[in-house]
Amino acid sequence: MQVTREAPATAAADGSPAAPLRAPLAVLAEVFGYPTFRGEQAEIIDTVVGGGDALVLMPTGSGKSLCYQIPALVRPGTGVVVSPLIALMQDQVDALSALGVRAGFLNSTQDYPERRRVEQAFLAGELDLLYLAPERLRVPETLDLLDRGRIALFAIDEAHCVSQWGHDFRPDYLQLSLLHDRWPTVPRIALTATATEATHAEIAERLQLARARHFVASFDRPNIQYRIVGKDSPRTQLLGLLRSEHPGDAGIVYCLSRKSVEQTAAFLTANGIPALPYHAGLDRRVRSTNQARFLREDGLVMVATIAFGMGIDKPDVRFVAHLDLPKSVEGYYQETGRAGRDGLPSTAWLAYGLQDVVQQRRMIDTSEGDAAHRRRLGAHLDAMLALCETVECRRVQLLAYFGQTSEACGNCDTCLAPPESWDGTVPAQKLLSTVVRLDRERNQRYGAGHLVDVLLGKPTPRIEQLGHTSLSVFGIGTDLTEPEWRGVVRQMLAQGLLAVDADGYGTLRITPTSAEVLSGSRSVLLRREAPKAARARTPRTGRRGAVSPAADLDGAASLVFERLRTWRAATAKEQGVPAYVVFHDATLREIATRVPTTLEELGTVTGVGVSKQERYGPHLLEALLG
Ligand code: ADP
Ligand code: ZN
Repeated sequence: MQVTREAPATAAADGSPAAPLRAPLAVLAEVFGYPTFRGEQAEIIDTVVGGGDALVLMPTGSGKSLCYQIPALVRPGTGVVVSPLIALMQDQVDALSALGVRAGFLNSTQDYPERRRVEQAFLAGELDLLYLAPERLRVPETLDLLDRGRIALFAIDEAHCVSQWGHDFRPDYLQLSLLHDRWPTVPRIALTATATEATHAEIAERLQLARARHFVASFDRPNIQYRIVGKDSPRTQLLGLLRSEHPGDAGIVYCLSRKSVEQTAAFLTANGIPALPYHAGLDRRVRSTNQARFLREDGLVMVATIAFGMGIDKPDVRFVAHLDLPKSVEGYYQETGRAGRDGLPSTAWLAYGLQDVVQQRRMIDTSEGDAAHRRRLGAHLDAMLALCETVECRRVQLLAYFGQTSEACGNCDTCLAPPESWDGTVPAQKLLSTVVRLDRERNQRYGAGHLVDVLLGKPTPRIEQLGHTSLSVFGIGTDLTEPEWRGVVRQMLAQGLLAVDADGYGTLRITPTSAEVLSGSRSVLLRREAPKAARARTPRTGRRGAVSPAADLDGAASLVFERLRTWRAATAKEQGVPAYVVFHDATLREIATRVPTTLEELGTVTGVGVSKQERYGPHLLEALLG
């Protein structure tokens, strides 16, 4: 058995008999059924096939997996993929098997005989790809095993997990630099779908990718429509969205707390929308059943905390909805990115309100960790708030956060219904005066609600009881409505012109910059919320909001598409794999429009490789005739 450590880096110099390498493009066509590479895939693949290291930053759905799968098929030996996504390894291996690729995994969910079988296959050179959880590399036996086999490359998936600045930090990732120390000649490819410039640099440094070529794609996801709306009754708003724009679609709803996850799932179910809960407090079996159902069944809604979703490569997630404010732009981008991997129109929808800001500021103030940690959390929140309050294109702002410039997109809410901005200096001064006035009563605590009541001159029992009707500021704000005032408070909090006290009551305090507003040396620009009717307007570019994948097929084709979907559901169920492992929606669409009559013709459809043509072709043609 050849010891990989001594194996030369390039395939050409490899000691194996001069078996000609398969061309990556041929593998793409035969195995995956795709005619051309996308974006920088070809160059990335050439780099790795040639023995070089690569650091790849590409958005979700852009085809990162092929960047290591094809080199693993082309180079001699097994491609070793380090991935934190233990729960998904079985699905990944199933999907590869359906393509005729020999794949296996090693993680803590396996029993001994199973593990032995995979190890033997690896040692015998019978695996194209081997998935490993990062913690496996702490175990000497694993390192020993890898030493005894032949390694084509190391792929480090979800590479941002090595970054402490990011939101998905995993300590086990820090030791991945050992791969380079121990197997210096094996090419490495690190991939991630999220990275600010800081995270990018951190990945390169911590994984010792000094000699790697960097590939940074545009992070734009043009098929995702970004929308951020004011929160009034979030569940009802959500229900409206799902009923009007996403009936029968699969999607993910994110909530901050476990309780709200369960309530929301129950609420949707009670309203006729099949929904499942997912959070870290649920029994492990329940979690994995719910995840498996979400992946396998059509049209389920997963209501979850952010514990759910990393690596979920279900291609037809049509919407991602946030009922609470994400803690960072990275988190928001990552979570919304789970929509529309298949490139079809999808919605990213977030409901956000004053209470979100108050709650998150409070959580930061009372969080564990040192001042630097809290500053970091604060910076993340500020960037997220800036995205929520922007009057510019959301996509421009989002991409700018990742250091990329772009033009107004025409497919986000601010492009579709541009919000006006208005000079809010006077209301801001009124609000701050009220805060200052109430602040004089040292031992009292007043949240935003009370403040707005005072401004509006509402004689509530509490105001009467406290004698606040006699304050000079009582009733000075009747020119705005209550929602407008709450908007002013929220935006001032977002702009740092107002702060939330760490007292745990949400008491509002002035900040150093408030004084500039009060003295008139600083003006305050605020965003007027888009009127409700305008929100649902159709994009002027002609790009529509998300619709079902069959919606633009003509009558006959859409009937065929539905028939194919039924066939796919039955086939997937029979084989115990997710429907998309059989064929993606996009492939079924093409079949439904072209209606191939022979196996050869079927083989020319995008997404139909040799293995799937053989395995599913005959039945599929029958179903087409049916
Ligand atoms: P990522 O890992 O970047 O999120 P995936 O690797 O899951 O993306 O790919 C997203 C989808 O795009 C998959 O369905 C994949 O099969 C498809 N895909 C990838 N590369 C190509 C290509 N060159 N041509 C057509 N489809 C592709
Ligand atoms: Zn836009």
